Amino acid sequence: MGNKKRMIKMFSLLTIMFILSFSLNVNAEGGIDNNDYSNEVVPGHEKTERWSYTSSINSYLTIDTNGSSTSTCTVTGYQSLATKIIIYTYLQKYQNGSWVSVDSGSSTFYSWHAAIEYPFSVYASWGRDYRTYNSIYVYSGDSYEHINAYSNVHHYHSSSDSSNCIS
Ligand SMILES: [Zn+2]
Repeated sequence: MGNKKRMIKMFSLLTIMFILSFSLNVNAEGGIDNNDYSNEVVPGHEKTERWSYTSSINSYLTIDTNGSSTSTCTVTGYQSLATKIIIYTYLQKYQNGSWVSVDSGSSTFYSWHAAIEYPFSVYASWGRDYRTYNSIYVYSGDSYEHINAYSNVHHYHSSSDSSNCIS
């Protein structure tokens, strides 16, 4: 086989591999399940008794007129105990009688206090109810407590439209 022929064969093989990897990426993108909390992998040991390291949690969701959604969550631990805080925040949409996560993000703070103002990349669609679910890990050394916190429900629809409304 000539060098040129071999190069062409190499090139077409690379092209096929490139296209394959690209389509695999596209598949993976479509397969992301933002409702799968088992994706949360945190180090350390869970403490069964809660609210030992955490003093207060506040969370709310804002949606502006074009659907841009922001999760705000503030976690305050006991200053003498809490050493690290991990916040996973999920944008949830009310759909067919249950809450479905449509976007998520996470932040880690090496402190007894944590505050996020997370802008989701997914926009809210008009006519729906939204809230955030915050999955919070507050550490004291290697040991952590896990606390779930939900925001207010944001009724992102006109008051006359209750077709997709939770209440
Ligand atoms: Zn509603």
